[in-house]
Amino acid sequence: MNTIKSLCVFCGSSAGKNPQMAEIAGRLGALMAGHGISLVYGGGNVGLMGRVAEGVLNNGGHVTGVIPEHLLKMEVGHTGLSELVVVDSMHSRKARMFELADAFAVLPGGLGTLDETFEILTWKQLGLHGKPVVLVDAFGFWTPLVAMIDAMIEAGFVAPRHRDLYVLAERIEDVIPLALAAQTPSAVSRADLF
Ligand code: AMP
Repeated sequence: MNTIKSLCVFCGSSAGKNPQMAEIAGRLGALMAGHGISLVYGGGNVGLMGRVAEGVLNNGGHVTGVIPEHLLKMEVGHTGLSELVVVDSMHSRKARMFELADAFAVLPGGLGTLDETFEILTWKQLGLHGKPVVLVDAFGFWTPLVAMIDAMIEAGFVAPRHRDLYVLAERIEDVIPLALAAQTPSAVSRADLF
């Protein structure tokens, strides 16, 4: 069992078209608060990001937002967080969120969500960390992405063992148990990469 005190959630700065996505985001927040797991996220008060933070805060949990100065206005920095860390760039934001988190959960989102997720997955592929990454496959949202990764494996650009870099949660209730149970990857050798 992993010890998870803080979970970093990557997700859309938009809410998407399906109102149930926002509901799921709020439920993840509530579940985290219930488990005493604090939230690390991008610090915004918009889209699914805002809903996760609200879910944690409304249930007595702890939230650390990490936001670059230039996005404070654009993403409407959440003013009610337990802690707001203001950083100087998008790069610093990702590095800080990585340092603060014991595990990662990825809800539906857009290009920013993909960027954040793939940085974490590629660092894990290189053996730089072994933190659990859970993709929340709400309404099959990540199915095309998993198919793309499978196609890369099939074409010989990704090692088959790297399918284990992430786990898929079909229900939001599965996210925390999956993160707690995720296996730490074995050390990476040169042969694993090339
Ligand atoms: P999105 O999934 O595009 O709605 O964005 C989700 C989060 O990713 C937001 O907090 C964005 O600020 C952030 N983001 C957007 N673009 C990038 C990028 N190129 N690099 C890192 N983070 C980004």
